[in-house]
Amino acid sequence: MIGGGLAGLSAATALADAGIRVQLFEKRPYLGGRATSYALPDGSQIDNCQHVTLGCCTNLADFYQRTGAASKIRHYDRLFFADGAGRVSSIHGSALPPPFHTSLSFWRFGALKLRDKRGIAKALLSIARSGGHGETKAGMTMLEWLQHSGQTEAAIHRFWRVVLVSALDEELHLTDARYGIDVFWKGFLRNRKGYILGIPSVPLGELYAECRRGIESRAGEIHSRAVVRKLRFVEGKFQAIVLDNGGEVRADACIAAVPHDELLELLPEELSASNSPFANLKCLQTSPITGVHLWYDRQVLDKPFLTLLDHTVQWIFNKSLLYDAGAGSRKDAGQYLQLVISASYELIPKTRQEIIDLCIRELSEVLPATRGAQLHKANVVKEVHATFSPRPGSDTWRPAQRTELVGFFLAGDWTRTGWPSTMEGAVRSGYLAAEALLEFAGSPRRFLVPDLPAEGFCRSWARD
Ligand SMILES: Cc1cc2nc3c(=O)[nH]c(=O)nc-3n(C[C@H](O)[C@H](O)[C@H](O)COP(=O)(O)OP(=O)(O)OC[C@H]3O[C@@H](n4cnc5c(N)ncnc54)[C@H](O)[C@@H]3O)c2cc1C
Repeated sequence: MIGGGLAGLSAATALADAGIRVQLFEKRPYLGGRATSYALPDGSQIDNCQHVTLGCCTNLADFYQRTGAASKIRHYDRLFFADGAGRVSSIHGSALPPPFHTSLSFWRFGALKLRDKRGIAKALLSIARSGGHGETKAGMTMLEWLQHSGQTEAAIHRFWRVVLVSALDEELHLTDARYGIDVFWKGFLRNRKGYILGIPSVPLGELYAECRRGIESRAGEIHSRAVVRKLRFVEGKFQAIVLDNGGEVRADACIAAVPHDELLELLPEELSASNSPFANLKCLQTSPITGVHLWYDRQVLDKPFLTLLDHTVQWIFNKSLLYDAGAGSRKDAGQYLQLVISASYELIPKTRQEIIDLCIRELSEVLPATRGAQLHKANVVKEVHATFSPRPGSDTWRPAQRTELVGFFLAGDWTRTGWPSTMEGAVRSGYLAAEALLEFAGSPRRFLVPDLPAEGFCRSWARD
């Protein structure tokens, strides 16, 4: 196994559970890849960026269960949104059957007018009635789909964009409509649990400690700071990996769970050349996410998280409260906030200080308590290649986990899973790669967990 991100870890855990002796090579000193945490020079642990999961992410939930991390995820069934003036509305469930379970809170949503809401409701109903298909044409962007379905400007900017840029890390005019529609179908319509937010109560790195123990207790090995330089094949069959130090490790089979552009570096030239089966990977593009960490000397936010409308900052996470549910009652204590800006193209050329200043300015508009507060410390993490960009046609560039090379398999959020670039997509790819490898080894097993079932009216419409 090459790569200790969620794709590699989930494949390795599944294979270890199936009795396969796994060796995992990870180039960094820590596990988790793009969903990880590390220590700052002053000793404090920070996540590279806040990561959240949703109730519809069934395979990630299964992975957390397998590795003993499930108890470290807290679940929130109320989502808070603040408009430009700091007025807060929330979306939450009710006793109504899906797809109407969040509709009562939606009709009370203060940041939208009745006309905006009517258009949104009509479009959501069309997605639900069509079983998540939403009548798209090949190549259609989400923005085109929204305009075609008669959405108002306010609905696009204060509802659809707010949800989708965070979920897909891409602007609406660059997003394949299929991905956008799927977010609403799986997250908000099909099942009443789909939208429930899961947030780790510990730094991300701590989630993988049990995972390491699970693999090692089944005779597996995890090698960190182990850079793989090349993959060796003979007559279309996997032979060995070549390490940075020149050493070779032979194995019966290999799963490469590295980012798509790094895979091209590992392959022999004839396999990454323009006419090779892997050449299409060069067409997959990436999009950035910027995380900003702010430590205030006092409490400035009383909610666990807040989504902002009409601002550059999209999410504020109250890390103090998320890590320690009792933190809110200690009024004299400081507060650690983590802000997230997805598809942050405009922030990439800005300096660290410019980004911090912008965030402080925006927070002073929605959180008045920040105005008199002292900022103790700030940190900016720009992830330029955070996710693959779900552009129209991007699915055609995503390869399956099983390759034409004997004994060689792929995993990674960018492989063909049907899901966007998320932790759920990464774990799905890991499970699918493990299934393909076990079939090759002659002892097939299933790991992939099904989606949440369609409930309420969605179930009866699916039968029509
Ligand atoms: C800032 C940010 C915020 C995000 N927020 C969310 C979120 O809220 N929810 C969500 O679901 N998803 C989120 N994502 C996406 C999610 O993190 C990824 O989809 C997922 O972690 C990808 O996992 P992966 O295993 O496919 O790839 P990676 O995590 O990239 O793992 C690949 C691993 O391979 C290793 N590697 C590469 N080359 C070599 C080599 N030559 N030798 C050895 N090892 C090598 C790398 O070091 C890395 O550990 C976010 C991503 C980012 C960057």
